[in-house]
Amino acid sequence: MTTKIDITLSETKKEKPNVDQLEFGRVFTDHMFVMDYSATKGWYDPRIVPYGPISLSPSTMAFHYGQTVFEGLKAYRTKDDKVLLFRPNKNIERLNLSNDRLCIPQIDEELVIEALKQLVSIDKEWIPTAEGTSLYIRPFIIPTEYYLGVAPSKHYRFMIILSPVGSYYKEGIHPVKIFVENEYVRAVAGGTGTAKTGGNYASSLKAQDEAEKRGYSQVLWLDGLEKKYVEEVGSMNVFFKINGEVVTPALNGSILEGVTRNSIIHLLKHWGVPVSERRLSMEDLYKAYKEGQLEEAFGTGTAAVISPIGELFYNEERMVINNGETGDISMKLYDTLTGIQTGALEDIFNWVVNVNE
Ligand SMILES: *Cc1c(COP(=O)(O)O)cnc(C)c1O
Repeated sequence: MTTKIDITLSETKKEKPNVDQLEFGRVFTDHMFVMDYSATKGWYDPRIVPYGPISLSPSTMAFHYGQTVFEGLKAYRTKDDKVLLFRPNKNIERLNLSNDRLCIPQIDEELVIEALKQLVSIDKEWIPTAEGTSLYIRPFIIPTEYYLGVAPSKHYRFMIILSPVGSYYKEGIHPVKIFVENEYVRAVAGGTGTAKTGGNYASSLKAQDEAEKRGYSQVLWLDGLEKKYVEEVGSMNVFFKINGEVVTPALNGSILEGVTRNSIIHLLKHWGVPVSERRLSMEDLYKAYKEGQLEEAFGTGTAAVISPIGELFYNEERMVINNGETGDISMKLYDTLTGIQTGALEDIFNWVVNVNE
């Protein structure tokens, strides 16, 4: 480690929230990590400082053309008070993939892992300990040049902020209803779907809003060209168990490769459960459903880990999956992944990183 991270501790400490009332992403800890970039200096001045607002000119590029990237991962506090991160290297590698797509300069992955560990250690008391709770970590980069021209910015700011989150499944894990989206698309091959960038989320809001008005919690996205092939569900990857085989859409240039998706494929292979990454049409999925072979469906991502799908609304028809109940594979994957993440189960793949080691 050559670059030293400068630390300024906050003089006052905020009151910690009651975990039972925590909403996702509303409360932030006492500190944040900040680092700046200029074309002449490269990334410079990595520092941990008190959490607080930042001041920027209205002409800052961040407010105009969406040249931004972000990540999302979690820290967990174990029963014996260790603090664990889950595969943080995967997130930081992905951040650099997103950077490349958005013409943002590469960051030093080792330095950012070190920053994550130090920041989370400093705000360790903010990590809730109750079952299902964690500390959400949001690294992100914004362009900070004051300029209205359409071009990659010459200045950037990288920040990491932390937010304690309550249990995603307060009333137990429960399947959701999904609207198969046949009008809007999330991403197309050649676009920015493989990058974690704000624009993908901005373009998804309308479909999400309309699905909610119809009583569905999220949409199932189809491919952007033919609207035939299954891609993702909401901002999660998607899996189906069809006649004993677990299938997820193959990475095709518009699907975001989730760390959870990758971990699930590893686990299923380890268990000897047939798993395949391939192109899957909505038509074939419907056929499997009609033949009684669609056994389970679930979304996967850092926030929920596993989100079982109990119903798909497709072509004016309700496809009810597994009687609207959580399937066995979904449950086993949820228990195993969260067990490894929280230190309750053996870390057989060496996925967990202790922030103090
Ligand atoms: C972040 C994200 C995912 C899930 O990725 P994880 O690394 O598993 O959290 C899936 N799809 C989209 C579009 C995403 O932005």
